[in-house]
Amino acid sequence: MSNADVRTTFIRMPERPAGAPAGEWATGLFKKLEPLPSGRKPLRVVVAGGGPVGLSFACALRAMMGDQVEVRVHDRRWRRRGSRVVWLGEAEGNFRREQVVTLQGNVWSTLPHLVQERLFAEGRFGEMWPLGPDSPAERGRPRNIRIRWIEDCLLDMAQDVYGIELVPGRFEVPATWGGTDILVVADGANSPTREALREHFGTPDRDFYSVDGEQLVETVLGIRVKGVFPDEHTVPLTVCQNRYLFNSLGGGFINMRLTAEEASEVVAIGEDGPVECIAKFRCTVLPRGGRFVCDRHRAIFKPSVDRLSFLWPRVLEGARFFGAGPQDVLGITVFRLGMTQNARFTAQLGPEAFGFLVGDAANSLHFWPGRGLNTGVKSALSLAGTLRSRWRGRPFRAADFSGHEGLMQQLQYREKSRAWTTMLMPDEDGVPRGIEARLRDGLRGSGDRAALTAVLWERVRAVKARLAGRMGALPPDEWYLRRIAGLHLKTLRQLVETGPWITREIGGDEVAVEVDFPESYTLGPASSPVPALPPLVPRVDSEQTVLRSVRDVLPVANR
Ligand SMILES: Cc1cc2nc3c(=O)[nH]c(=O)nc-3n(C[C@H](O)[C@H](O)[C@H](O)COP(=O)(O)OP(=O)(O)OC[C@H]3O[C@@H](n4cnc5c(N)ncnc54)[C@H](O)[C@@H]3O)c2cc1C
Repeated sequence: MSNADVRTTFIRMPERPAGAPAGEWATGLFKKLEPLPSGRKPLRVVVAGGGPVGLSFACALRAMMGDQVEVRVHDRRWRRRGSRVVWLGEAEGNFRREQVVTLQGNVWSTLPHLVQERLFAEGRFGEMWPLGPDSPAERGRPRNIRIRWIEDCLLDMAQDVYGIELVPGRFEVPATWGGTDILVVADGANSPTREALREHFGTPDRDFYSVDGEQLVETVLGIRVKGVFPDEHTVPLTVCQNRYLFNSLGGGFINMRLTAEEASEVVAIGEDGPVECIAKFRCTVLPRGGRFVCDRHRAIFKPSVDRLSFLWPRVLEGARFFGAGPQDVLGITVFRLGMTQNARFTAQLGPEAFGFLVGDAANSLHFWPGRGLNTGVKSALSLAGTLRSRWRGRPFRAADFSGHEGLMQQLQYREKSRAWTTMLMPDEDGVPRGIEARLRDGLRGSGDRAALTAVLWERVRAVKARLAGRMGALPPDEWYLRRIAGLHLKTLRQLVETGPWITREIGGDEVAVEVDFPESYTLGPASSPVPALPPLVPRVDSEQTVLRSVRDVLPVANR
């Protein structure tokens, strides 16, 4: 292993020594899976929440364990249509998420091959971000993809390829756990299941991510726009400041961080006055005849019609910075982002049942560094690999999950430290100066346009230089100078005040999870429920199914 590898991953991928038999090499945590003694039941797994993490866990586990596992997933956003399970529609209150997320090379390349083939179909993903520690050259560049597409693909594959039982409706915690070996809690940041099981998992602690005794919660506007420029060209414009972030896929979402005063403008007005809409339910307001409306609540997004709005010109200014005119804005929604610390991610729920938090239910992150789903998929793959390697057809013991729990704690430390640093935004002297303070400071004083332009341009130039060789060719300097010249002076001053991305402070070693899936393993098309299991001859080539990770954590971390 080279020094470079040690620097960029905590969890090393052991090289198989030349000539060593695969079986011996794969000892340790991830041992060969023995066929179950005849008559023994398969592992029974229930997943609460069929979002991108719950579904990727379910698919990955079936890909690894085949007929040795039965998986049932519950989601309240599904319904039955004939023999299929589909997403509820907007009329039923389900507004699908259109945002574009970035999956790191270390993550997307670790998904089952069939899932990769389906997700990354031509035209369904883009590569705008450069190579880096979590997307090393041998894995590939980060990939932008719509969260809705991920969910659609995985829901179809869960039914058509992996034979997973899908149950529309809320998951309710049962009185006893008879018949369930494993509960996977993947029902999102507000996780009702985690809440119902708080005597097992504890109560998430806000103190770690509070300032002056109050949890720090940011409000971010999501502005969906048509694409005008090639995705990659906008990267230096995003990285040179911290007000607007454009994550695109031939169009996409401009995310805009707000002050509390700006956030108070995020209201919708119905016929009889303000209505609970975008601010409470995070509805997406859509353009209708020069204003933005929510069809569900029959309400108008007030800033879009308020000529005195402070917020609205700044929304349009952000769009213009990335080349989108008012007619290119396709929708607006809002996100609130705060973080909590979880005491544990693994808990014994009953004599023979264990529960696990994964995805946002385990670690809900500020998305500016773009790691929420990545961290969720890592947690899902670690758990699937652990179950795969530890299942012997008899009840688990707490010790079986020490490695997985350790990895979850590592992920929590790494990703929340990164996100917290992004929220606090230390200045050059390391003194925290959060985004709100910076945005407010940007409003004061007149400022010298030439001097401010020089500062922002210098940042763009430095980002361009850093990215050379890590992504495609970027446009000439004049292209960026024109974009800066088009900014209103106040916006220019605010962008300068927010500072460039703090890439050094949040960079460094990444926590990686490595899983190999058996190449030749196939599951015939199956409908729910999972077909009967005999004979239990593993079609999985277990020597290839190896989670090459956790056993190496301690030696490296202790160095
Ligand atoms: C604007 C924005 C940009 C982002 N960009 C990135 C990015 O670039 N990269 C990145 O890695 N991450 C990003 N994220 C974060 C990412 O979207 C989340 O981390 C990810 O969606 C979490 O997936 P999940 O499956 O854990 O939770 P969710 O997506 O919240 O899914 C939870 C599921 O559980 C279901 N559910 C809830 N309660 C119940 C119940 N009681 N019973 C049954 N089902 C239930 C819900 O219906 C839902 O389907 C971004 C987030 C936002 C808001």
